Amino acid sequence: MSITRYIFVTGGVTSSLGKGIISASLAKLLQSRGFSVTIQKLDPYLNIDPGTLNPYEHGECFVTDDGAETDLDLGHYERFLNFPTSQANNVTTGRIYQSVIDKERRGDFLGKTVQIIPHITDEIKRRIKLLGSKYKYDFVITEIGGTVGDIESLPYIETVRQLKWELGENAMVIHLTLVPYLSASGELKTKPTQHSVKTLLEAGVQPDVLVLRTEKELSEDIRKKVALFCNVSLQNVIQSIDVCTIYEVPIKMQEEGLDKVVLEKFKLPIGKDPELKAWKEFLGKYKKPKKIVEIALIGKYVELQDAYKSIAESFVHAGAVNDCKVNLNWIHSESINKDNYTEILNKVKGILVAPGFGHRGMEGKILAVKYARENNIPFFGICLGMQAAVIEFAQNVLGYAKANSSEMDEKTQYPVIDIMEEQKTILEKGGTMRLGSYPCALNKKSNAFKAYEKELIEERHRHRYEFNNKYTDEYIKAGMMPVGINPETNLVEIVEIPSHKWFVGVQFHPEYKSSVINPHPLFIDFIKATLE
Ligand code: GLN
Repeated sequence: MSITRYIFVTGGVTSSLGKGIISASLAKLLQSRGFSVTIQKLDPYLNIDPGTLNPYEHGECFVTDDGAETDLDLGHYERFLNFPTSQANNVTTGRIYQSVIDKERRGDFLGKTVQIIPHITDEIKRRIKLLGSKYKYDFVITEIGGTVGDIESLPYIETVRQLKWELGENAMVIHLTLVPYLSASGELKTKPTQHSVKTLLEAGVQPDVLVLRTEKELSEDIRKKVALFCNVSLQNVIQSIDVCTIYEVPIKMQEEGLDKVVLEKFKLPIGKDPELKAWKEFLGKYKKPKKIVEIALIGKYVELQDAYKSIAESFVHAGAVNDCKVNLNWIHSESINKDNYTEILNKVKGILVAPGFGHRGMEGKILAVKYARENNIPFFGICLGMQAAVIEFAQNVLGYAKANSSEMDEKTQYPVIDIMEEQKTILEKGGTMRLGSYPCALNKKSNAFKAYEKELIEERHRHRYEFNNKYTDEYIKAGMMPVGINPETNLVEIVEIPSHKWFVGVQFHPEYKSSVINPHPLFIDFIKATLE
C-alpha cells in the first residue's frame, strides 16, 4: 500500500478507559491482515518526556531501542505488535513547544507572530505525518492522550480537525467513551457518550467510529440510540466490554468487527478474518494454567502497580509459556527489615528486586537479595535490583560491611557500584542517563546464555551507575561472576552466582522487550527455575 492512512483515537467521559489497549488491539488486527502499522501517543503535558516524572505520577517510564523515555502505553504497543517503537512514537506538548520556540529563536518564522494555530498545530501535524512519510507505514494510529474537553488537549483536537480536512478519505477518528451502568436503576446510560461526542463536534470533529466501554452487554436499542444521537452508522458503534485480561481485547474487537469497519471506511478490501492463532494459543494457556507460582516483586512503588507495568506483563507472557499463573506478591521494600524478612519471604518460590532510584527502601532490597542467596531461592535482579545484589554480596560475602553504591552513599569506602565515567560531568536530569539499546556478550556457561541461546544480545538500559570493575577479581574469587559484558565499553551487564540454583542480576531492562508472541527468555527461564 503506497498511501498511509491515519487513524486518530480520542477519549471521552473519563480517563483510563483504555485508549492504548484499543489502539493496540486495532493495530494487532490490521497487522494480522498483513498491513504495516505503528501507533503513536501524543501526551498533553508540558514535560519534554516522562523520564523526569515520579512513577507515582505517571506509572512506568518505557524505554525504546533508540533511548527515548516514553509513556507506558508504548509498552502495550510493543507487546501487542511485537515490533519496536521509537522516539517518534511519543510526543508531548513540552516537546512540541520546545521545537516551535527553538525555531522562533533561530528566526525561522521570519518575523511572524508565533501562535498556537498554525504554528503549534503545524508542528503536531509534522510529527504525526512523519511516521507515514519517513517510515511508510500503511496505518499510523495516533492516540491523543487525555480526555476531550480538557484545556490541554485542545491543540491536538484542533490538529485532528485540520488533518481530517486535509487528508480527506485517508483519515478517520475513533472515539472511545464510557456507557456507565447504574445499579440502582439497573440501566446503562448513554448520555455521557452523547455529551462527549457533542464536545468533539464543538471542536469541529465528527467521529467515524464510537467504541463504548461497558461492564454489561449493550443491547441493539442502546447501540441504535448512540448511533442516532452521534451521527454514526449502527455498525460503527462498537462495544468494548470488560474482560479478564487486556490480551482478550483484540479478540473482542475482532468479534465486533472494528478492523472491518476501519477497512470499509478506507475503502480497502476486507477479505477473511485473520486467525490470530499464536495469540489465541497464548490466551488459552493464560486462561487455563496448570499450576500457580508465588513470586515476590520487591520495589518501592508497589502501591501503584503501573510503576512496574512491563515487569508484570513479562510475567504474564513467561507464565503462559510455562503453563502456569505467576502470582505476584507486591512487597514494599520499606516494609522489609531484619526482624521480618524471613517471615515475609518464606512463602515465595522466587524473588525479583525491581529497578529504582535513590536510597529509600534499599535496606529491604538488600535483605531480600540476602534471603534469596542464602536460601537458594531463584533470584532475578533488574537494574537497581542487580546493583542491590552486588552490594549485598560485598557486604555479606566479601566482608565489606559498609560497601554501597555511590548513588546511596557518595562517600562510601567501597563503591562496588559507582557512577559511570561519562555521567560524572552531567548536571541536567532529562534524557541524560545511559539510555536505549546496547550489545552484551554472554559467557557460554551462564544461565543467561542457556536462556537466550546466543552469545550476543541487545537489551535496553536506563541508568547512571554501574558495577565497579575495580572489584571484579574479588567477586570472581568469592563466587559472583560477571557473565554479560558490553563488548565495546567492558561494562558489566549481567552477574550470576553459578553455585546458586538461579541467581541472575541484569543491569539492563529485559522487561521492555517481552511481548505476547516473543516472551522474554530470562523471564521464561526464571519462572522455570522457580517451578523446579
Ligand atoms: N538508580 C540506578 C542507576 O541509575 C538504577 C536505575 C534503574 O534501576 N533503572 O544506575
